[in-house]
Amino acid sequence: MDLGISGKRALVCASSKGLGRGCAEALAAEGVHLVMNARGSDALEEAAAAIRSDHGVEVTTVTADITTEEGRAAVLAAAGDVDILVTNAGGPPPGMWTDWDRDDFIGALDANMLTPIALMKALVPGMMDRGWGRVVNITSVSVKSPVAVLGLSNSARAGLTGYVAGTSRQVAGKGVIINNLLPGIHDTDRATALDGGVSKSEGISMEAARTKREATIPVGRYGTAAEFGAACAFLCSAHSGFIVGQNLLLDGGATNATL
Ligand code: NAP
Repeated sequence: MDLGISGKRALVCASSKGLGRGCAEALAAEGVHLVMNARGSDALEEAAAAIRSDHGVEVTTVTADITTEEGRAAVLAAAGDVDILVTNAGGPPPGMWTDWDRDDFIGALDANMLTPIALMKALVPGMMDRGWGRVVNITSVSVKSPVAVLGLSNSARAGLTGYVAGTSRQVAGKGVIINNLLPGIHDTDRATALDGGVSKSEGISMEAARTKREATIPVGRYGTAAEFGAACAFLCSAHSGFIVGQNLLLDGGATNATL
């Protein structure tokens, strides 16, 4: 299927590795020019070079922390008038419900709620003026089914989900389509870190922690960044214009729910 977005420009945040990189790769494969971002420049430049060489698209890189005001200003200055926005940032650390104080919550809200909102506020007006735009927010399975040790993530991402639910309906009439992608466990550094937490707290090997988690997923494995990117590219495509404010779960069936 031709996704109908060749020649468009996308900002993909936090995209040197993992799910963000999967989204960047899938968009580039459709001929979309990219602005990519991460805090570390080595992996970012490596990813950008590989994408330029594999897909022949223009890739601009911005080394910056997307969760800070200065970082966002640098990224937005380089991005200019993009047609597609994929918001993403690292996830908050796991812990117990008693562990976190106000500063921890402010950090999580900044990273996983207020940063995507600031990016949408900066870029969606231009998309509305031009009559076409796509936004995909990478959130988490935790907004549908809480992950008990990820209380900071559960809280901050629920806030973003509420904001998107209303906002997506306010802008859809101008051709701007906003949806959220909810990853369950995917084979990235984040999954390795989460498995590390289980390995430590339960005194089991990393392999055992992974096998244990895989047994909870109906497809019996972790998702891949490529699968995730393909779903993102579809939501950014010319064909997604009637899909508004949805929360698409990509979890291999792990969430046991009818709807
Ligand atoms: P990952 O493999 O750890 O990759 C994170 C990427 O984001 C890297 O490119 C990293 O590069 C960049 N990044 C992190 N913090 C950033 C910041 N403040 N500013 C700019 N770039 C930043 O993570 P992932 O698995 O792709 O996860 C992406 C998001 O999905 C996270 O919020 C995670 O919590 C969520 N999620 C993931 C899973 C999963 O199973 N993988 C499941 C549910 C939710 P630098 O470190 O160089 O900045």
